Amino acid sequence: MEKNQWDELLSKLKHSVGEANFQNWIAPLEFQSVSEGVATFSVPTNFLGNYVSQNFGDILLHTMSQRFPEINRLSFHVGSKSTAAPVTDTKPAVSARSTEAVTAGDMPGAPLDVRFTFDTFVVGKPNELAHAAAKRVAEGGPVTFNPLFFYGGVGLGKTHLMHAVAWELRARRPDLNVLYLSAEQFMYRFVQALRDRKMMDFKQIFRSVDVLMVDDVQFIAGKDSTQEEFFHTFNALVDQNKQIIISADRAPGEIQGLEDRIKSRLQCGLVVDLHPTDYELRLGILQSKVEQYRVQYPSLDISQNVLEFLAHRISTNVRVLEGALTRLFAFASLVGRPITLELAQDCLADILRASERKITVEEIQRKVSEHYNIRLSDMIGPKRVRTYARPRQIAMYLAKQMTSRSLPEIGRRFGGRDHTTVMHGVKRVEELKVQDGQIAEDLELLRRALEA
Ligand code: ADP
Ligand code: MG
Repeated sequence: MEKNQWDELLSKLKHSVGEANFQNWIAPLEFQSVSEGVATFSVPTNFLGNYVSQNFGDILLHTMSQRFPEINRLSFHVGSKSTAAPVTDTKPAVSARSTEAVTAGDMPGAPLDVRFTFDTFVVGKPNELAHAAAKRVAEGGPVTFNPLFFYGGVGLGKTHLMHAVAWELRARRPDLNVLYLSAEQFMYRFVQALRDRKMMDFKQIFRSVDVLMVDDVQFIAGKDSTQEEFFHTFNALVDQNKQIIISADRAPGEIQGLEDRIKSRLQCGLVVDLHPTDYELRLGILQSKVEQYRVQYPSLDISQNVLEFLAHRISTNVRVLEGALTRLFAFASLVGRPITLELAQDCLADILRASERKITVEEIQRKVSEHYNIRLSDMIGPKRVRTYARPRQIAMYLAKQMTSRSLPEIGRRFGGRDHTTVMHGVKRVEELKVQDGQIAEDLELLRRALEA
């Protein structure tokens, strides 16, 4: 392999693992040679070699073997190019796999996803607090809030943030023992330890970590002995002033079947809510993904209006949003067509249908009356003064635009008004929208609030 071929692979790797990982782990590798299917690298320390092999081995191998199919193993040697050279000229002895045990030890953690770093996390209003708290913990300074508790619906980035903290801590504070696992894995290890009569080992391992992260803690609700053990582990670590990060799909107080004493302990630290994404955040996430796809599909381009369309229409969860984009690129490259709005509608019909959120007329009425500071009863009631009539017409307009209700159905929900009244209201707002900048702005704001 030539030097420029290696450089080309490096730029691919940078995209796959993110800037921070790349600088910390990939950049220090020195490519040496390929021989009998084994690609050899020299590394500055044993630790780095083991770490890269364990955490980036798969992606490194995958990336290299795409370009050079003959490569099927990786090998890492300590030393600079010159001193290591004689070793690799003979048969390479150490495979990527055989170096694993050294760093992995017996730590029962779950593997970290290489894509989940701070570099790839897009920050917006709905997640800025969670991001800031995660960043703070990732600095590895003195423990200030314990535990840090993240909660929010599926696909809002809880796992991503936890992995990002783990990656960053590993890079900044390699002296710390950082353990990430799901609550389900915690239970599994616990049950296994019970079965194998290895409870002492289990306790020993969990109580010797410096940072413990347990994902999806709602899983242990209702599982009594696991909860009990979790509680003890938790207390032991808090007593030693060790950092704990927990995530769940809802606030601690709302997890059914979780013991009260655990709930109250979980609430002791910082509880941060990841809010549902808003339009801007979704667009930001799509744009950052597109950057990554540009490398993979250099000939395909996607226009801003397709991204805006997706950000508007897929508002449920980021995983679905990402899946949609992946499918779109794959489909377009297969059929050799440009990515247009029609193509998107075509290829994503099922996702678009499933993520259609049903907005109700009642929700619209509520939001609009809040916005104009009037009572809901006045919006629906008979008063015809402009203070009520205008918001009423705006709500009618939004109901016509954003729901599939017919004019008579909308009329019924506005205190039994006639469909011609609704029609008149909708027309009036359409005129106002053009003449009055304030109304246009209100409409846009309301629409976004309703879509969020
Ligand atoms: P959760 O654990 O809250 O269910 P995940 O962390 O697994 O959600 O996120 C789901 C997917 O969405 C992942 O691929 C993740 O990278 C992506 N994602 C979520 N939030 C963001 C964000 N703010 N920026 C970039 N990617 C995100
Ligand atoms: Mg998760």
